[in-house]
Amino acid sequence: MPADPVSVLQSTFGFPGFRGVQGQVVERVLAGQRTLAVMPTGAGKSLTYQLPSVVLDGTCIVISPLIALMHDQLRAATAVGIRAGTLTSVDENRQETIARFRAGELDLLYVAPERASSGHFRDLLAQAPLSLFAIDEAHCVSEWGHDFRPDYRLLRPLFDQFPDVPRLALTATADAHTRADILEQLGIPEEGMIVAGFDRPNIRYAITPRDNTTRQIADILAEHPGPGIVYAPTRAATERLAAALSTPKREVRAYHAGLDPAVRQRNQADFVASEDMVMVATVAFGMGIDKPDVRFVAHAGLPKSIEGYYQETGRAGRDGDPAVAHLFWGADDFARARQRIGEVEPERQPGERARLNALGALVETAGCRRAILLAHFGETPPDSCGNCDNCLNPPAAVDATETARKFLSAVFRTGQMFGVGYIEQVLQGQSTERSLTNGHEALSVWGIVGAEEAHLLKPVARALLLRDAIRANPHGGLEFGPAARGLLKGEATLKLVLPPKRERRRRGAAGA
Ligand code: ADP
Ligand code: ZN
Repeated sequence: MPADPVSVLQSTFGFPGFRGVQGQVVERVLAGQRTLAVMPTGAGKSLTYQLPSVVLDGTCIVISPLIALMHDQLRAATAVGIRAGTLTSVDENRQETIARFRAGELDLLYVAPERASSGHFRDLLAQAPLSLFAIDEAHCVSEWGHDFRPDYRLLRPLFDQFPDVPRLALTATADAHTRADILEQLGIPEEGMIVAGFDRPNIRYAITPRDNTTRQIADILAEHPGPGIVYAPTRAATERLAAALSTPKREVRAYHAGLDPAVRQRNQADFVASEDMVMVATVAFGMGIDKPDVRFVAHAGLPKSIEGYYQETGRAGRDGDPAVAHLFWGADDFARARQRIGEVEPERQPGERARLNALGALVETAGCRRAILLAHFGETPPDSCGNCDNCLNPPAAVDATETARKFLSAVFRTGQMFGVGYIEQVLQGQSTERSLTNGHEALSVWGIVGAEEAHLLKPVARALLLRDAIRANPHGGLEFGPAARGLLKGEATLKLVLPPKRERRRRGAAGA
C-alpha cells in the first residue's frame, strides 16, 4: 500500500499542500501515466518527481543537462532525507552510487543525457527496479526548442526498453510547436500534457530602446533600492557595467562563467544574503538560485528568446511583492542575432528566425506586453493587464511608411554604404564637406525630410533594422535586406510606436 502523497508532502517536504498543477502532475505519475508538465520556473517542478520517488518502490532516474543544477538538486533532496545520488564526470564516488542503486538504496539517481543514452547505463538500469524516468529541461529534445541537445534524442530508445516505467517530462519553456515535439519525441500522449499558468502579475514589464545603457540602468537602480539582477550580453560587458554602476552606497558585482569558481560562489552567496546588492551577470547567473526578494531584473540587451526573457525576468518578485522587469534593446541586437542565425545549420534556421521575430513583436508592440508573453505560452490573456509600460502609459502609434520609404531611397541613392547618421543628414539636407564631395546634395532625396518629420528618422532606422529591411555591414554602412522590397513597392507598411515623453518626476513617483 503506497503512502498517501499529501502526508508525504507534509512529513518529508514540510509543505502544507500542493501548489498549482503539482497535485495533478503527481497524481498522473503515481497512476503510472506518461506526462509532460509545462510549469514556469519557480513553480516547483522538482517536487513532481521527488515526491513520487519517495512514494513509489524503486529508483527514479532523473535526466538533467547541467551538472551544477544536479548537485543543487542533490543537496536539496538529501537535506529532506531523500536517498539520492548523481552520476557525473565530476563525481568521484560513482562506484559507490552504482552499488547503492543496485542494492535498491536510492530514491533518486541524477544522470546527464550523454551518460543515460550509453549502452552501459542501459545494462545498469536492468539490474534494479525503477520507479520513474524524469526528464528535466525536456525542451532540449526538440530541434524546434531553443536549446536542442542531440543526446536527448537517444533517450526514447532507452525508455522504450522499459515500457512499464512511467515518464515525466518537465520544462519551463516551450511554445506550442516545441510542446508537440516533446510529446512525440518522448512518446507521451497528448492528454498527458499539463500546463501551469504562466502569469506573474506582480512583475511589471517595460521595454525601451537603448540610448545610454549605463544611465538608463543607473536610473533603475536609483528607483529600486532592493536586490536586482542586470543581464548583460557578454562577460566583458558585465564587468564594464558593474564598474560603471557601482557607487559607495550601492554594491554592484559582476558574475560570469569566466570568473574564478570561488569568486563566483562568493558573489552568489553574498547576493542571496543581501538586501540591496545588484548583480550584473551573463545568463549563467540565476539558475538554481533561490532568492525570493529580487526587486528588479534589467536586460542591457536583447535576450535569446521569449522563453529566455520569461525565465530571466521570472527571477524577480518570487515573494509576490511588486517587482519590475525592464528590457533595453537596440537595432544592432537584431542585426547581430540575424547574423548568428545565418551561421547555424540550415534546418534550425526557420525555428531561430521565428524565435527572433517573436521577440521583435514583443519589443515593438504598442499593446500589452503581458498579453504577448502569455499568448506565446498558449494562454488567452485579456488585451490589457494594467501592469506593463504600454498599459500604464499607452504609446502613440504613427504610420511612418512614407518616412521609411524616404529612408530606404536615401540608402539606395547614396550607394548602400553609409551609416544611419549620414543618411539622416542627407534626408534633412544638412550640408557637410562629406555630402559636398560625395555630390549627394544634388540627389532627389536631399533635404526631403522636414523638421516636423525628423524625429521619426531614428525610430524608423531602428524599425527597419529590426525587420531586416536594412542591414548594417561590418563598417556600419547600410544595405538593403529582404524586407526592403515590400516597403518600397507599397506592399508593406511601417507602423511605429513612439514611447511617451518621459518625465523623470512622474517616473520617480510611479516607481514601485
Ligand atoms: P522549478 O524547478 O519549477 O523552478 P523548484 O522545484 O526549484 O522550481 O521549486 C521552487 C521553490 O518552490 C523551491 O524553493 C521549493 O522548495 C518551493 N516549493 C515547491 N513546491 C512547493 C509547495 N507545494 N509549497 C511550497 N513551496 C514549494
Ligand atoms: Zn499590459
